[in-house]
Amino acid sequence: MSRVALVTGGTRGIGAAISIALKEAGHKVAANYAGNDEKAKAFESETGIPVFKWDVSNYASCADGVAAVEAALGPVDILVNNAGITRDAMFHKMTPDQWLEVINTNLNGVFNMTHLVWTGMRDRNFGRVITISSINGQKGQMGQVNYSASKAGDLGLTKALAQEGAAKGITVNAVCPGYIATEMVKAIPEKVLNERIIPQIPVGRLGEPEEIGRIVTFLASDDAGFITGSTISANGGQFFV
Ligand code: NDP
Repeated sequence: MSRVALVTGGTRGIGAAISIALKEAGHKVAANYAGNDEKAKAFESETGIPVFKWDVSNYASCADGVAAVEAALGPVDILVNNAGITRDAMFHKMTPDQWLEVINTNLNGVFNMTHLVWTGMRDRNFGRVITISSINGQKGQMGQVNYSASKAGDLGLTKALAQEGAAKGITVNAVCPGYIATEMVKAIPEKVLNERIIPQIPVGRLGEPEEIGRIVTFLASDDAGFITGSTISANGGQFFV
């Protein structure tokens, strides 16, 4: 069945793969982004997926953004909370700004976006909310106290909200990718990647964004109606919960 899907941070990396996978599954997709107009416009012209610019950490901007998407495509049935950032530092060097920026985007952004589509999903007795958390929200990662806290918060939000959505036909799930080959990971020095990170991944490689796109597309489908409150780990065997 064709539905309206909104993917935050949907123009690059994992989000772009999710947007494309949902489109290929027959959905009408809108991709949000924060500031990289060049990448967003290139993505729009290559894929035909319309792009919408706003900052998920700002509730009022999210409200305007959701209104613009709904005016263009119709009510949002599928929300993919994918937008996320890192501001890594050891805790003793972490600034309050680095803490807040990450929490405001990765956790408060999920609240903002989900809150704005939730009432409509309840009214229509259908919804899919899928949040991209992280392996580092499951296991913790040194140098990423802010990021790990934000991503663990996403998992708590998912489990609690799933219980509220269940009677209304809304499923709420999270995906925890391990290391996926995107710009976020390519920013890690090659030596660290090859000598420290890849040897910790039993399958012996980074994941591909398309592998996350396929998981999200399944969770968004009608076939996944009995899966809610779940966390799907996709990390090449690096960490088992
Ligand atoms: P990228 O840095 O490649 O892309 C991030 C996307 O999010 C971009 O489209 C960016 O927009 C958008 N974005 C960032 N901040 C905001 C904001 N405040 N408002 C709206 N959009 C925003 O990230 P990845 O594809 O690597 O990661 C996607 C998600 O997956 C993130 O939540 C990340 O934490 C998670 N993840 C990634 C892993 C990895 O190995 N890559 C592993 C585990 C989890 P713009 O282009 O305008 O900057």
